[in-house]
Amino acid sequence: MAEYEESEIKDRFKDFFEDEGYTPELNKIADNYPEEKSIYVDYNELHLYFEDVDFPRYVLDNPTVSFDQAQRAIEDLLGPAHEDVEIHLRIEKLPESRHTRIRDLRASDLSKYIAVDGLVRKATEVRPRITQAVFQCSRCKTKISQQQTSDKIEEPLECYENQGGCGKPANKANFKVLLDESTFQNYQTLEIQESPEGLRGGEQPQRLKGWVKEDLVGEVSPGDRITVNGRLDGSPKQSGKSKYRTFNIFMRVNSIGIKEYEYEDVELSEEDKRRIE
Ligand SMILES: [Zn+2]
Repeated sequence: MAEYEESEIKDRFKDFFEDEGYTPELNKIADNYPEEKSIYVDYNELHLYFEDVDFPRYVLDNPTVSFDQAQRAIEDLLGPAHEDVEIHLRIEKLPESRHTRIRDLRASDLSKYIAVDGLVRKATEVRPRITQAVFQCSRCKTKISQQQTSDKIEEPLECYENQGGCGKPANKANFKVLLDESTFQNYQTLEIQESPEGLRGGEQPQRLKGWVKEDLVGEVSPGDRITVNGRLDGSPKQSGKSKYRTFNIFMRVNSIGIKEYEYEDVELSEEDKRRIE
């Protein structure tokens, strides 16, 4: 299997965006940032451009490093004028071989970029989720900034002296989050369920959770038939403080394709039909 250095991945994406004429679109998105923050690419376009499947497949098998380098490539193309802009690459329309039924998801799919088809069963309310928290010590008022990466909020362990703090441990410092100085992003979870057509008699539909953020939130409702593309992720099952070797799985959604909306069956009167015509 082909392997690529980080710099090579970045260069390949840079060439792709330039040669395929994406630069004007990227600049337009950067001008409208943060109202717009995504560039959409069909998988097939990558396949055609790179002429063989090695690199596109590498991207799907190694999405974390690949999407990271694609973002670096975009930053290079935009130049210093758009320094604070973070445009996300969203790859859509994966080949059939990358569509997996929820019941067929296996350990080998973990950390891979895949497509899952199904019905939206639940969509939570969109809520702000903190990404960079600024804490203030209640004793000495020092501010400590800390990036948030896990599900639970991570507080500083102490009021760090090397950041100008008083050195008190967390339980004595009593940290408060400063909302106006912290960074948030929009966040929502979806529950996707296998469509009834794909099931054999007696099979219960299985479900998968999807994490949706930023400009993807609020786009789908229960009943919508969708394809979600993204990285399959997992976290250990937990009970109290013990974590188990068995993992729960969920998808970090990178893009959503809406297949059809569910309409209510509406009885039309003759009068309605005439007006529509
Ligand atoms: Zn302090």
